[in-house]
Formats: sequence, structure tokens, C-alpha cells
Amino acid sequence: MAHGFSRGGTRIGRALRVPHLSRGGAPHRWRGGFGGAHRARRRRYNLVTMKKSQRLRINEIFHSVQGEGTRTGVRCVFVRLTGCHLRCTFCDTEYAFYEGDWMTLDAVLDRVRQYDCPVVEITGGEPLLQPAVFPLMSRLADECETVLLETSGALSIADVDPRVVRIVDIKCPASGEARSNRWANIGLLTPRDEVKFVLANRSDYEWARDVLARYHLAKRCPVILAPVHGALEPLDLTEWVLEDRLNVRVGVQLHKLIWSPEMRGV
Ligand code: SF4
Repeated sequence: MAHGFSRGGTRIGRALRVPHLSRGGAPHRWRGGFGGAHRARRRRYNLVTMKKSQRLRINEIFHSVQGEGTRTGVRCVFVRLTGCHLRCTFCDTEYAFYEGDWMTLDAVLDRVRQYDCPVVEITGGEPLLQPAVFPLMSRLADECETVLLETSGALSIADVDPRVVRIVDIKCPASGEARSNRWANIGLLTPRDEVKFVLANRSDYEWARDVLARYHLAKRCPVILAPVHGALEPLDLTEWVLEDRLNVRVGVQLHKLIWSPEMRGV
């Protein structure tokens, strides 16, 4: 979620992939029956049987610049969680639907600290599907200047730590998931949150424009209108926004200009 339209592609990126736990132990040696392989198996077993509130399935953790939203261009550590219950037509983070390894909250925090970065983003997939993401966000907020959450807008944001900046998608019709929008979230938004519409065509734009007017969204928080890469020209979207005098930001995805649009982990 960098919501889907943003971070897809190959496995060639600069991401430090989450190490597979099966490779995490010491070299396999025979020590009266309890070598490194045994310890790795034991650790994996412990993680899988651990309470859901204490473990997270992580797809990748990487260090890049923020590609979208009001913090575009700032250095950021991304923690991508596995799993999503939506299937947006333009999604290019499908690799996050199923791939990932279990990690403890402490292990995730240790990885984030390695980058010495004041900004962290929790993304997916849909990160709010995993119960342990709530304590993770709180612990990150204890340590980091800025914690961002990218969510599909299909689940409640009510229980997110108030120190976290919530970047909430509103799914447009061409995504195929407009019925999943949880409209009650709009009433929970504060001026430090952000709303994002990803638009595939003129119909999506007009739909978003109606939603903006109906909920006075631009008065609640920053609103980003972003074109689906390769489907809608940023120039067209910009001209529509100017013509209609909308108080929004047109978002182009910086990381897709810097790196190949297919590159993963940037
Ligand atoms: S909500 Fe899920 S399916 Fe939709 S773009 Fe985000 S990750 Fe992909």
C-alpha cells in the first residue's frame, strides 16, 4: 500500500529483504543433538505458535525516499506487512499478499533502528489486518519522529495510536474495490492525516471530486490525487484539478521517476 499502485515489480531492488528465519541460526553442528539447525527450527516454531499480538508477518523492510504524499522526497524506512483482503485492479504489490516471514516486534524494531532514520512508514498489503501492528506503531512512535501508516481505507483507523499519521486510501470505482471503503473513517481524520485517491481515468476523477465536495475533505486534511502509473497522464489530471480549482495535491510517484517503475524495495 504504498498502496499498490506504487511499489511493484521485480526482486532486484535495494531492499534488505527480511532474512528467512530458517537461515537465521548458527551453522549446523552436532552438539549432542542440538545444533544450529535445531535452534533455527525451534525459533521458527516459537514464532509460529506465539500469540498474534506478539508477532508480525513481514514482507520486507527497506530504506528509501518517500515517493508519495506530503513527505515526498524525505528519507524513510518502510516496513511492509504481508497480506491484503482487497484485490485492486491496479495493485502491483501482489507479492505482499502471501510472501513474508514471522518476526517479533523487537526484531522489527531492531531492523528499523539500523537505518538511523527519523521517519518510518508501515505499509502493506493491508497492515491493519495483523493485530500486532497496533503495538508496533506505538513502540515506533516512542522512538521515531514520524510514523506513517498507509492503509487501504477498508478497515477502521480508530485504534491507531494518535501519534501516527494515517494515510488513508479512498478506493475509486476503477479499482474494483470502491464498495470496500469504510466511510466512517472520514469522521476520524485529523489535520495531520492524509487522504489519497488513486485515479485511473476521468470517471474516477469525477467520482473523487464528488466525494471531496460531499465530505468537505480538503478542509479536514491534505488530499492527494494520484494517477495510476501508465493509465492516466499526470498532465491530464493536473489540468482537471486546475480547471476545477480543487484544493488538493497532485501526486506523482517520485520513486518511479528515480528508479525503474518495476523495481522493488525502493
Ligand atoms: S489495498 Fe491491497 S490490493 Fe489494493 S493496492 Fe493496496 S495492497 Fe494492493
